[in-house]
Amino acid sequence: MVDQTLIEQITRAVLTQMKAGKDAAVSGDGIFATVDQAVAAARQAYQELRLLTLEKRETLIRAIRDAAFANAAVIAQMAVQESGMGRVEDKILKNQLAARKTPGTEDLTSRAWSGDHGLTLVEMAPYGVIGAITPTTNPSETVICNSIGMIAAGNSIVFSPHPTAQNTSLTTIRLLNEAIVKAGGPDNLLTAVAEPSIEAANAMMRHPGIQMLVATGGPAVVKAVLSSGKKAIGAGAGNPPAVVDETADIAKAAKDIVAGCSFDNNLPCIAEKEIIAVGRIADELISYLQKYGAYLISGRDIERLMEVVLTERTEEMAPGCVGKPRRVYGVNKDYIGKDAKFILSKINIQAPDHIRVILCETPADHPFVLEELMMPVLPLVSVRDIDAAIDLAVKVEHGNRHTAVMHSKNVDYMTRLAKAIETTIFVKNAPSYAGIGVGGEGFTTFTIAGPTGEGLTSARSFTRQRRCALVDAFSIV
Ligand code: NAD
Repeated sequence: MVDQTLIEQITRAVLTQMKAGKDAAVSGDGIFATVDQAVAAARQAYQELRLLTLEKRETLIRAIRDAAFANAAVIAQMAVQESGMGRVEDKILKNQLAARKTPGTEDLTSRAWSGDHGLTLVEMAPYGVIGAITPTTNPSETVICNSIGMIAAGNSIVFSPHPTAQNTSLTTIRLLNEAIVKAGGPDNLLTAVAEPSIEAANAMMRHPGIQMLVATGGPAVVKAVLSSGKKAIGAGAGNPPAVVDETADIAKAAKDIVAGCSFDNNLPCIAEKEIIAVGRIADELISYLQKYGAYLISGRDIERLMEVVLTERTEEMAPGCVGKPRRVYGVNKDYIGKDAKFILSKINIQAPDHIRVILCETPADHPFVLEELMMPVLPLVSVRDIDAAIDLAVKVEHGNRHTAVMHSKNVDYMTRLAKAIETTIFVKNAPSYAGIGVGGEGFTTFTIAGPTGEGLTSARSFTRQRRCALVDAFSIV
């Protein structure tokens, strides 16, 4: 006998497929029932985009920017509601930032060599259809930023959004597609499946119609794209240390660290995740951190907080192994991106409204220091000198090559840490977000590719270099 629940499940799936297929056929909003359909539509859109001029491409980019900017608040609200993470006002800023400061077609440059044997030109050409996997922590920002960069480079995109924030990502895709079509661009330049899942992401990665993969997320998805056998860009996890030495402007360092750490409740991969205080500055730094919105906890409260925000298990020992089994910590997802005040209430502390960060002094090997918590919990470790600070910063960054922050006026110390830690972003004397163009110079991105080395990705990261040699002609000297 066939199970009734199974019949219901199949009926629902078929109806979803029919609806998505119908919607897509009518509106070209980019949302499809299956990966095959999403890839086929994106391929068609890519071919249509190939026929447009660069000037027209830039018109489409402008339309994307305007639509994203105009809807920044709506999608920010939706993201917080759907994912239960982050702060609406900060997500609005992130959407606006992605809309305004992600480079467009101006990022593409050509190189030429001319001489006795004519003219050789290298141009930045599109890959084709890019599969872009997006995180729950930046569900609209990554879509906006990737869309601008990848389309500027001449590609179309099949997005694979995180299921926890799928409505936000799919709504952003629909809004941007609508703007593209209104501006005279092809239907379905951005596509996705109506029900994103890890299985759909894997099917997309394997699909022969996808030429390039871009993963923005944690270690598992970066590993998955790098094992795909396709050209892949991996933008992975971070655990940025903020080192403060004795030469720093301590008050400013404290203010900047609270601002960076608490931005969108610590969701950004670049946000300060732990402080390393050098020498005798710890007490002064702590009192300024408190002044600027940190709530200091100690003793039993730290243990209670660990019980709330961490998961813990005992590592299984291999047969024949001796010694004490190790405790392995993870992050309790229920608290990722939550307000400091809310987290404090879970350990029976009622904090005032202005509190943005939970501060605690810990040893260097504390799980708050070693885990990428993505919540406004900020451990502070005191070390004796700059050598110990550099060693510890390198250790806790875990070789992610992502982001580090330093507050110092000693150029030699800053240079030493920057060289030792080898991060993609190194911010000096500012909140971490200065590294993505907020209060610092330079363009923005929400896909920072440490593992694969593209760094702060932009249109040029999504291109292939193609050479055209015209022999014995067009050199006019
Ligand atoms: P996540 O790794 O859980 O998910 C990211 C995306 O990958 C999602 O779409 C998810 O569905 C998919 N995914 C996860 N595991 C997969 C697998 N095995 N196979 C196929 N798809 C898989 O990350 P998250 O919680 O959404 O985002 C937070 C993480 O992303 C943090 O580690 C953060 O540092 C990182 N991040 C990095 C950047 C960057 O630019 N480097 C930007 C934002 C976030």
